[in-house]
Amino acid sequence: MTGLLEVRGLNVVFDGFRAVTDLDFSVAAGELRFVIGPNGAGKTTLIDVITGRTRPASGSVRFDGHELVGQREHRIVRMGIGRTFQTSVVFEELTVGENLDLAAQFRRPLVSLLRRRRAYPDDVVAVLDTTGLGELVDQPAGVLSHGQRQWLEIGMLMVQQPRLLLLDEPVAGMSREERERTGVLLREVAQTHTVVVVEHDMEFLRRFATVVTVLHEGRLLCQGTVAEVQADPRVQEVYLGR
Ligand code: ADP
Repeated sequence: MTGLLEVRGLNVVFDGFRAVTDLDFSVAAGELRFVIGPNGAGKTTLIDVITGRTRPASGSVRFDGHELVGQREHRIVRMGIGRTFQTSVVFEELTVGENLDLAAQFRRPLVSLLRRRRAYPDDVVAVLDTTGLGELVDQPAGVLSHGQRQWLEIGMLMVQQPRLLLLDEPVAGMSREERERTGVLLREVAQTHTVVVVEHDMEFLRRFATVVTVLHEGRLLCQGTVAEVQADPRVQEVYLGR
């Protein structure tokens, strides 16, 4: 079966340094896939290539059968791929609802920007519900906790209705409770979207991951369930340091 996302024979070279080597990576529609690996494994580079930020030396990235390599970043967003960054992109002075509404405008005709509305549109309301941010809708984003801000960012992607979400370390810096809520949120998001999550937190993986892809020095080291990859001696050696 062909995946929604099919990366084949990917090579990325920065000034002679091979950041990704002969990587194949496939994600089926509806999957919640986790990608792990030590620092420098090539995880962010993989996301950067998929989103058109970095151009590979060779290889192909197909999304729903369409080649992404050579496409501009904004075209790839329009094709239905959304990503979060490790740095925040919310507007602190705007409220939670306004941030979501602004992100949602991306999909609407320009005229809707000029219309005054009394209530938020259905898609924004639905995302407020999914992310659990409903009670904070009129709060400025600047007052949100670290976890709430991450959920807002995920919500800002969701209102753009991407088919594939790429999340870079969404639980980094979160409290245990926030991590738990994020895992539940990701599962819910994965009911309707395909999600790829770069994450380091092994406890979080044990709790929420089904299939895990392990990268090391730009190559695919192994792939399987959390139990399988944890039992793999190569993973223990390079990643867990045991
Ligand atoms: P990870 O996200 O797994 O920590 P990265 O994808 O960020 O790893 O980086 C993979 C390797 O590529 C690292 O050795 C990093 O230093 C290098 N690298 C990433 N981006 C660049 C760049 N723009 N220029 C030069 N080297 C880079």
